[in-house]
Amino acid sequence: MAKPSDPSDWDEQKSRIVGLGERSFRKSYYPQLRENLDRLERFRTLLDRTSDCVVLISLPEGTVSDANAALGQLLGRSSVTLVGEPFVALGLGDAAEIVEALSVESRQERDSGAVPSHSDVTEFRRDGQSVWLELTYRLATLEGRSYGVIVGRDITERKRAHEMVASLLAEKEALLDNALVGIAMVRQRVFVSCNRRLEEMLGLASGGLAGRSTRILYTSDEAYRESGEDAYASLDAGQSYSFTELMARADGSTFWGELAGRCIDPVRPELGSIWIISDVTERKQAEARAEYLSYHDALTGLPNQALLKDRMQQAMAFAHSNGTKLALMIIDLDRFKTINDFLGHAAGDRLLVDLARRISEHVRNTDTLSRQGGDEFHLLLSNLAEPDAIVTFLGELMDDLQQPFRIDGQELTTSVSVGVAIYPEDGADFETLLKKADMAMFRAKDAGRNTYRFFNEEMNEDAVEQITIHAGLWRALEAEQFVLHYQPQIEIASGRLIGAEALLRWCHPDLGLVSPGRFIPVAEETGLIVQIGDWVLREACREAVRWREAGKGSLVVAVNLSAIQFKRGDIEKSVARALEETGLDPHRLELELTESILIRDSENVLSAVKRLKQMGVKLSIDDFGTGYSSLAYLKRFEVDKLKIDQTFVRDLVPNSEDAAIVRAIIQMARSLGLKTIAEGVESQHVLDLLGLIECDEVQGYHCGRPMAAAAFREFLDNR
Ligand code: C2E
Ligand code: MG
Ligand code: MG
Repeated sequence: MAKPSDPSDWDEQKSRIVGLGERSFRKSYYPQLRENLDRLERFRTLLDRTSDCVVLISLPEGTVSDANAALGQLLGRSSVTLVGEPFVALGLGDAAEIVEALSVESRQERDSGAVPSHSDVTEFRRDGQSVWLELTYRLATLEGRSYGVIVGRDITERKRAHEMVASLLAEKEALLDNALVGIAMVRQRVFVSCNRRLEEMLGLASGGLAGRSTRILYTSDEAYRESGEDAYASLDAGQSYSFTELMARADGSTFWGELAGRCIDPVRPELGSIWIISDVTERKQAEARAEYLSYHDALTGLPNQALLKDRMQQAMAFAHSNGTKLALMIIDLDRFKTINDFLGHAAGDRLLVDLARRISEHVRNTDTLSRQGGDEFHLLLSNLAEPDAIVTFLGELMDDLQQPFRIDGQELTTSVSVGVAIYPEDGADFETLLKKADMAMFRAKDAGRNTYRFFNEEMNEDAVEQITIHAGLWRALEAEQFVLHYQPQIEIASGRLIGAEALLRWCHPDLGLVSPGRFIPVAEETGLIVQIGDWVLREACREAVRWREAGKGSLVVAVNLSAIQFKRGDIEKSVARALEETGLDPHRLELELTESILIRDSENVLSAVKRLKQMGVKLSIDDFGTGYSSLAYLKRFEVDKLKIDQTFVRDLVPNSEDAAIVRAIIQMARSLGLKTIAEGVESQHVLDLLGLIECDEVQGYHCGRPMAAAAFREFLDNR
């Protein structure tokens, strides 16, 4: 075919050919020529309207023989101009290989019948952008010459779409595989697909789960069946379902899994469901630990009070219906504070742990040992048929606890004080029993530690009284419930009354006359003793002034002082005011101090006592012989008199040890120039004996009981 110089030439050439034909061919050929030309034109149109690029190259040169409009459009040129150009020069990616392949083929298979078609995807760069072409090419022979027919289809859009789908899929997959949860699609209780995480969770190789039954998740057939029934009842009803279950791994180990599932389409459950499975073992363990800690003591691992109370309530219910008894014990380590102070808290903690272990060895597993913090353990002994068993138990326990503990290479010996309350005798509820065991434990401490006490009603009465005293003491002063009783003091040699000791009494509206032994400790504890002591001083001085009216102007009144009055009060001012207000001669006031007052904080007490002495008041040491009995301070404090304690005096018999002590005290007092008075003289023969060993004065029931002020005045009148 002649090379057209321009497509627009086509029409011109056509009419030229047709005209030529009209003129030069025989009339009979003309219609056929015309027909062929029309066919050629239709074919040309078909080619040029095809969106694929079509190009014919002549082989082996590889030059373009013809090309359609689409190729021209792709290259941005008129297709006519391409004719005669080497195909490889057009810039279509793998053009050289295609030409080469076609050339080889044209040489080899010129005679063979079947002509294979090939395809290749190649890149074409246009304006800096990639256009992807799928080139299909095959060999063609025309009039004995070889051609290559190459059809190129622009697949850029398709390729992009492909790439996008691929990257979306990769993203999804990465998302699924890197999720911290296992994700699976399940149909008919069989895994259809899942992410990598789920396989890892189950200890399976990649791809090891798809196609398997969900039974693999469960530790037993029963668990598989039960959770299946529950789950599919919900899923089939179009609801989501979640549960936590102990799950099995391929190697037989287990973990806590939390599963949540929902149907892909609630209306068509047969499509399957999506499950999200998380390993919640750590959370479960943390929950279990928190649960454990809320019922246990962190140091020893023993149950705490909450758990003890719980067990106690169950045990009480059981004991109630079986007619058995329970014992609730409070076991308190003696002097734990000292151990802590000397060895440090870490050693103290280790001791508590060892102690807990040692006590545990004595209890049955139906009993509950618990720690309440500090050094206090509570022990519930349940189901006691024979209460005597407690005594045996305690004996063995306390023996064992006295064996030394080894803490940090040191031997430590300790002991415990135990209080016991019994159900149902001592109370029907935990709080009451605990309170009573506590009272009993304090009794054990009072009794010198390293012992046990069972609760008894007397303890309760004492405790109630203690509370009543505590509450009432605050109002006793202003309610004028205090009175002083007076007990005579006699000079042995002359039989003369020389004075009286003022002894405080509390007329309690409910308890009656309360002796100082019961309320003074409370008054000291609360500090109320300062105000009360003030009142005692004033009242005693006022009364002593009245004795002058009875003609006994030389009698001395002795007043007891408490250590607290020195520590917290201003004792000098208090004494000075009492003397001033009543007008009593200071020589007629005697202050009774105990040895403990002088020992403690002695510099301050010494200066206070010195000034009191300067005022002219007398000083005696009460309960002498029971305390430190140091000669040194007797001199320093310029004491006037020693009151020999009644424990030596009361049962005094000749040649006894007590007699020796009393004689020694008297001799020592004499050598220091001090007077002596024996208190607690209850009989004539004691009085006689005291006279023999040269005691100066006596006080006691034998010479006169403490009496109310009026009674004492009457006593004075009658002498
Ligand atoms: P105390 O100062 O040693 O008083 C002597 C105690 O012995 C008094 O007990 C008295 O009643 C008792 N007594 C006297 N003669 C005999 C006797 O022959 N046989 C026996 N068995 N006992 C005898 P009371 O009055 O119960 O006082 C007890 C303690 O209370 C006093 O011991 C004293 O330490 C303290 N006290 C009393 N009144 C006061 C006070 O006003 N202030 C302070 N701070 N303490 C006081
Ligand atoms: Mg006294
Ligand atoms: Mg005394």
